[in-house]
Amino acid sequence: MTYPNQLNCVDPVLNIDLHCHSTFSDGLLAPAQVAARAKANGVDVWALTDHDEVSGIAEAREAARELDLQFVAGVEISITWAGETVHIVGLQIDETNPQLVLGLDSTRSGREQRAREMADQLAMVGIPDAFDGALNFVGNPDLISRTHFARYLIEIGECRDVPDVFSKYLIEGRPGFVPHRWATLQQAVQWIRGAGGVAVVAHPGRYDFTDMQLGVFLDEFIAYGGSAIEVMTGSHTVDQYDTYARLANRYGLRASRGSDFHGPGESRVDLGALPPLPPSVTPVWADWKL
Ligand code: AMP
Ligand code: MN
Ligand code: MN
Ligand code: MN
Repeated sequence: MTYPNQLNCVDPVLNIDLHCHSTFSDGLLAPAQVAARAKANGVDVWALTDHDEVSGIAEAREAARELDLQFVAGVEISITWAGETVHIVGLQIDETNPQLVLGLDSTRSGREQRAREMADQLAMVGIPDAFDGALNFVGNPDLISRTHFARYLIEIGECRDVPDVFSKYLIEGRPGFVPHRWATLQQAVQWIRGAGGVAVVAHPGRYDFTDMQLGVFLDEFIAYGGSAIEVMTGSHTVDQYDTYARLANRYGLRASRGSDFHGPGESRVDLGALPPLPPSVTPVWADWKL
């Protein structure tokens, strides 16, 4: 991949994708299949970042090694901040770190009970059996998520596609939404840093924050030791690429790039298929040995 519109730029730019999911959380492909797809799409450096789960990393690392694809161990931690769910990506983690493993364990617990309550709500609006229906799509019984309910709602013809689901169901004020308390911002950043990793704010454009709230959030994130933010992500519009590149520079944060790929036919952006980071930002991988 080369920078567009830079005719003098002869150095190849590495295609680096630092955010995606496998069947160990709510992705549709096993880690080895994700690795193969990343390689086929021309990705040079790849991170698997399953939600609140690191059990897929061993398989991912081995598959990447066989494909001669540089691998970065990652995770995407769900947190609650000011009543909002926010995601914090950890990169370059030691996935065997006991504090991280225990912390993620505690974050995952409660998902089954929440899922049963989600199914009860759906039953009340005439959609029975959603718990078992969603469970059919689950690869990791510890990690039943809204995505699995979304797939069930599509399967039974209740919704057209994933965006349709998340406009009618599973969101605040709609059937199937059950508020949940995830980890705290401080815990997530500490677990990631304690495991030797870099903490990154995932898809900042997706949160319902005012500019002031986002500022308070980033100040706290930085105070706990967070150091990067996603700029190029499958969740951002072209305008948001620019908005968050500026924000990264204003806060002295490094910038990350990740598709947030969940599966073929489901995710808008495929592995490796984002524009490169704008030259104005410092990449999160600036001091990695690549
Ligand atoms: P959970 O962790 O169970 O709350 O589920 C969150 C997951 O649902 C995210 O990781 C996404 O994969 C998916 N999701 C949430 N909101 C949306 C949305 N608006 N569009 C598509 N997928 C979404
Ligand atoms: Mn997801
Ligand atoms: Mn996310
Ligand atoms: Mn994600």
